[in-house]
Amino acid sequence: MTQFGDRLMLIGGELVASEGGEWITSVNPATEQVIGRAPAGTAADVDRAYDAAAAAQPEWAAKSIWQRAGYLHKLAAAIRERGEEILQLEASDTGNTIKLLAGDIVISSAMLQYYAGLGTEIKGDTVPASGGQNIHFTLREPYGVTARIVPFNHPFMFEAAAIAAPIMAGNAVIIKTPETSPLSGGILAELCQEIFPPGIVNLVSGYGIPVGDRIARHPKIRRIGFTGSVGTALAIQRSAAETCIKHITLELGGKNAMIVCADADPDAVTKAAIGGMNFAWAGQSCGSVSRLMVHESIYDDVVERVAAKVSALKLGDPLDPTSEMGPVNNKAHYDRILSFMASAKQEGAKTVTGGDIPKGEQFERGFWVEPTVYGDVTMDMRVGKEEIFGPVISAIKWSKLDEVIAMANAVDYGLTGAVWTNDLQVAMTTARALETGLVWINGTQAHYVGTPFGGWKDSGLGREECVEELVSYTQSKAIHILL
Ligand code: NAD
Repeated sequence: MTQFGDRLMLIGGELVASEGGEWITSVNPATEQVIGRAPAGTAADVDRAYDAAAAAQPEWAAKSIWQRAGYLHKLAAAIRERGEEILQLEASDTGNTIKLLAGDIVISSAMLQYYAGLGTEIKGDTVPASGGQNIHFTLREPYGVTARIVPFNHPFMFEAAAIAAPIMAGNAVIIKTPETSPLSGGILAELCQEIFPPGIVNLVSGYGIPVGDRIARHPKIRRIGFTGSVGTALAIQRSAAETCIKHITLELGGKNAMIVCADADPDAVTKAAIGGMNFAWAGQSCGSVSRLMVHESIYDDVVERVAAKVSALKLGDPLDPTSEMGPVNNKAHYDRILSFMASAKQEGAKTVTGGDIPKGEQFERGFWVEPTVYGDVTMDMRVGKEEIFGPVISAIKWSKLDEVIAMANAVDYGLTGAVWTNDLQVAMTTARALETGLVWINGTQAHYVGTPFGGWKDSGLGREECVEELVSYTQSKAIHILL
């Protein structure tokens, strides 16, 4: 028996293994030890989940918003109650360090409560579209069965938050959990089984193909929310397009720029650059400011300070509350990050700190890389333009504001961006010019729930963490009363 045992899926109110009988073994990325298993779901499992969801959804949609909100509040409380257990498992399965990972429990529960409170925002408009006493108005109605596909970096938090908007809007939902780090999905399945009517929330584990692909191709699942990489997003759009018309929203990656002007405080910048790189999850965060673009007048100073702090980060056991960075999530991703490090050397980036596998007995097994800062990075290097999704800061020197803005925008991504200056004109000119869905002025890292989160260009479609997400799980119907 492994440490966390077998974790089941939730389909039609039952905790089940896959019909196919296959399992995914999950390893602790810090040790490579097998710690548990999750079912390797099949297309038939997705179809079963769809059938159960479709049967249950009309009754769910008929409940009042206050009743639906009550279920979300119950789930929020249950998550907090099992918070410590979830954290232990999640840190062991993802490699994310436990101290900051505790925030995932707070956020999961807060997102459920936030959407529970937004029920009356599922509202339409009245429109004076014709003369006389005619009445024209719109209703917002659920899609029926919706699905959400989740990545590996914060599986529990993304899965829990993904339930909130569709469910509140009167839909049933199928959540596809990631194939690496699938175990915490099993705890969420248990909680949802206790709380929701059968079929309303379903969790299916398994590989992208067949599980995610079946969701993309299912002719009756018309609304999909996807969080993950650009390549998978394109595959989902292609698969869906071969089947029928679907509403698909996409939360994808980023190669996010932090533009530091000459007047910025180097101390504050250093802190924000490191916080914004999310080393607590080895940089594996879509919003990480991985391009540190510093004005030439303070470039050497800032890069030196950032590198000193990065090299002092405490690498270690994700379960140790003093660890500041753990391993990266999985072997394939580890190999990918090492290939970026090799390319940085080949392409002439300056290794300011890190750039290798850490030394020491503790790091002999597991997927460990050093927290890294590259200097003198140019936009033609892979580490200058591609998302690494690892603990790597690429520092870039600039002299003219219009040039750095052009460099910041010269990638296909457009998720987040930051500008550091006390000059309001410069801050706003830059914020307006950045081709991203979010800009921090003198900030990084934080999400502010209630404001839209989402990307421009290849970073995505649609907005989450706000009313728009809730409404996006409804479709509008115009009604004309002709009097
Ligand atoms: P991924 O695209 O490899 O996988 C994401 C999910 O898609 C997994 O559940 C996977 O099984 C599934 N999938 C894979 N192939 C599929 C297919 N053909 N059809 C349907 N589903 C399929 O992403 P990942 O490696 O797990 O996550 C890292 C990426 O996610 C990074 O690019 C990161 O920036 C992005 N991300 C974005 C956000 C955001 O909010 N914008 C948040 C977290 C992560």
